[in-house]
Amino acid sequence: MKITEIIFASHNAGKIAEIRQMLEPLGISVKSAADMQLPDVEETGTTFAENSLLKSQTIAEAVRIPCIADDSGLCVDALDGAPGIYSARYAPNRDFDKGMDKLLAEMAQSPNKSRNAHFTCVVSLAYPDGNYQLFEGRVDGTIAAEKMSGAQGFGYDPLFIPDGYDISFAQMDKAEKNKISHRGRAMKKFKEYLSSL
Ligand code: IMP
Repeated sequence: MKITEIIFASHNAGKIAEIRQMLEPLGISVKSAADMQLPDVEETGTTFAENSLLKSQTIAEAVRIPCIADDSGLCVDALDGAPGIYSARYAPNRDFDKGMDKLLAEMAQSPNKSRNAHFTCVVSLAYPDGNYQLFEGRVDGTIAAEKMSGAQGFGYDPLFIPDGYDISFAQMDKAEKNKISHRGRAMKKFKEYLSSL
């Protein structure tokens, strides 16, 4: 069954803008949980996949429309993969400027001097009947010595330099970031699935 309308289970304005930019050219109208005034779903899972499914299945069951969710985060080698699934909560009061300062301070204290990191994203598609699909994307890179802010981006973007670039995600235009990002890669798999329907 071709999907023409989808709910994106998110209140994160940065993620919502990226997902709209990826799906609207395919003729899929995207409503977010924020547009529909749906409450945030508590992320009680222990993996990106579990948290992604918790969000998409809860909303798909409530609204009876196919729903996608993304659970994503930044995994830093020197911090044994932290903040990982806790990336949103790691930032004090969800203030990512402070979150980035905290990350740089913890990295400075870590005996592991690697600057390697990756973003991971698991996109889940949940149908109201309980069926679901998972799509995973990852982008490797390094953590900058200091914030490299630009006009674009959200969250930890100013600290993340993707491999092969010398600018941060925050300094790339959205379309360029979408091509290589964890979310862009997971969504590419999702779009391939859609075209197979
Ligand atoms: P959650 O998926 O809602 O748990 O939130 C994931 C958190 O990871 C976001 O709030 C951001 O802080 C961070 N994050 C995920 N994707 C990105 C990205 O593309 N750029 C910057 N930060 C991101």
